[in-house]
Amino acid sequence: MSRGKPYFAGLTKTKLTSEIQDELKKFDFNQEFESQLISDLIAEKHYYCAQKGIHPIRFRKSFRPGAAYDFEGYFPNHGWHMVSWRQCITPRNELDWIKRALRDAVQPIVSSYKSLHPTCERCSLKPSEHVDHVHPEFDVMANQAIDKLSKTEIDAIFVNFNWWSEEPFSLPPSHSIVNFICNAHETAKLQAVCQPCHIASARERHA
Ligand SMILES: [Zn+2]
Repeated sequence: MSRGKPYFAGLTKTKLTSEIQDELKKFDFNQEFESQLISDLIAEKHYYCAQKGIHPIRFRKSFRPGAAYDFEGYFPNHGWHMVSWRQCITPRNELDWIKRALRDAVQPIVSSYKSLHPTCERCSLKPSEHVDHVHPEFDVMANQAIDKLSKTEIDAIFVNFNWWSEEPFSLPPSHSIVNFICNAHETAKLQAVCQPCHIASARERHA
């Protein structure tokens, strides 16, 4: 299908968001509908769909307790899958996503440290609830890891992630930055702390 300049191209982010919200209000939960506007937007702007040349042809909002709704698109050959139209307007912060995935990647190390230190190492009174990255801070290690990546390598992380899976975004366990952050944890100073000590210790570091 050949399309001219997409309709959304001339709209500001605010205007485009409100147009889509107005369109979505017309439909009930689970009611299937078509929208050239949303379909075109995803085809052109969604980080995965645009790269892969795919776009959903129908949509529905499904009810989710505690949230407004889950937004799903129907993809030929795949079926229904959650797809964010908002991320097509305001792209996700790639570095924040990678940082969160790095946190998930070191979770086993952190959990194991905590189970080996069941009592707060700072006050020696309360049970430990968190593990504090005393030195270097987690952000410092994560930024060092990310700084090693070229733009091409960052793009590859997102394009190679299996978007069709229902799992949250993650890094391949063998990725070089996962190795880097795991190795950095071998020499990093960790401290198992209770909640009040965690706050106090972070405050001292940033004083
Ligand atoms: Zn404590």
